[in-house]
Amino acid sequence: YLDRLKQTEPHINCFLHVSDPDKVLKQAQDIDDKIKRNEEVGPLAGVLVAIKDNICTADMPSTGGSYILEGYRPPFDATAVKRLKDLGAIVVGKTNLDEFGMGSTTEASAFKVTANPWDLSRVPGGSSGGSAASVSARQCVVSLGSDTGGSVRQPASFCGVVGLKPTYGRVSRFGLMAYASSLDVIGCFGSSVADTGILLHAISGHDSLDATSSKREVPDFTSQFTYASSLKSRPLEGLRVGLIRETVDAGVDSGVKSAIEGAAAHLEQLGCVLKEVSLPSFSLGLPAYYILASSESSSNLSRYDGVRYGNQASSDELNGLYEESRAKGFGSEVKMRILMGTYALSAGYYDAYYKRAQQVRTIIRKSFKAALDENDILISPAAPSAAYKIGEKKNDPLAMYAGDIMTVNVNLAGLPALVLPCGFVEGGAVGLPVGLQIIGAAFDEFAKHKCLLNGF
Ligand code: GLN
Repeated sequence: YLDRLKQTEPHINCFLHVSDPDKVLKQAQDIDDKIKRNEEVGPLAGVLVAIKDNICTADMPSTGGSYILEGYRPPFDATAVKRLKDLGAIVVGKTNLDEFGMGSTTEASAFKVTANPWDLSRVPGGSSGGSAASVSARQCVVSLGSDTGGSVRQPASFCGVVGLKPTYGRVSRFGLMAYASSLDVIGCFGSSVADTGILLHAISGHDSLDATSSKREVPDFTSQFTYASSLKSRPLEGLRVGLIRETVDAGVDSGVKSAIEGAAAHLEQLGCVLKEVSLPSFSLGLPAYYILASSESSSNLSRYDGVRYGNQASSDELNGLYEESRAKGFGSEVKMRILMGTYALSAGYYDAYYKRAQQVRTIIRKSFKAALDENDILISPAAPSAAYKIGEKKNDPLAMYAGDIMTVNVNLAGLPALVLPCGFVEGGAVGLPVGLQIIGAAFDEFAKHKCLLNGF
């Protein structure tokens, strides 16, 4: 993995910080020695994991992709990172992202642009583009990302890997830099569904340091991968699958549409009962998400004032110090979100925007609940298109936001969803991957017949 990282990283730019290879090898050697001495090692012993740079790590920089935190080394590990380390995993580095998770291409990082390993002239998706690309390029085994409105699932789709957004509350957010606290979750990338399940199992469960983490029992996500060996001809007999009609309507690239329809037909062959379901509120998700995410972010990002958190600019008086620190520290996308959020929360507009968006969120949550009472899983594309060119949407924020249409509803409803490769469209040298999104009921990461984490 280290050799491959050295070879490919100059072309792909996944990492903002790479661990010292000698230290990584020493950690691996120590594990090897323990095994030779018949001493116990953790179930993830020696597994190389990359961590998105908005997740805190005690011994490494954690910048959130922002100048305002350049050089910051947190004095603690995020709970998810601590759990991985306790099980023997080795952190190989910190991955690039759109600043504080705000973006869909990883171009909004303050530090570098990450390329898509399938075609270096294209974006890897975002905001967890570095984590997706590093698994796709086999620079690490698995990686952690975060998903507020699709930031694990859309890059997984663009990079042809598996991405899992857990149910809100399944994984502790302690140590994840807050973007929009009611939507944020830490998620998993792997090159197989099994790897993703093992990673999810390692990081799941209640944490007293995060009041929103759930006390529900964590099923054994690692023990269910049986279909491949005992493949019956129709292993998913009777599984009720709802294809969300609004997600394959106009606005979706024809190649993506036919890949999803191909996957749906395949599910039928495996025994699923496929029907189309309509979620009339689906298109309301995008405006509601951008109001709510911006509002929460404007509040969360107030802590970066150069005094409590963040690099301090020099100024003779206090207000100037705040203004300069934030003006220099934040990039333009982040500033735009703060302005949108502050506007939506201001006294005169609160009822028209924030309150209304909360009401829409309730409608969306109810419509997903109803659809999941009648279906075991729902399916859709993970994104309306495959990976596009670097720079193509950089100066057109509305076009960029529109690309999140497939994923944001799932965060508003707090549900788990898995993305896995289901086909290709033309592009690049060998084609570009397309991801299928599979949505389950809350806390049902296995999705009834255990299919979600079995990857069919
Ligand atoms: N692209 C979305 C946004 O910019 C989602 C980002 C995310 O999930 N962190 O808000």
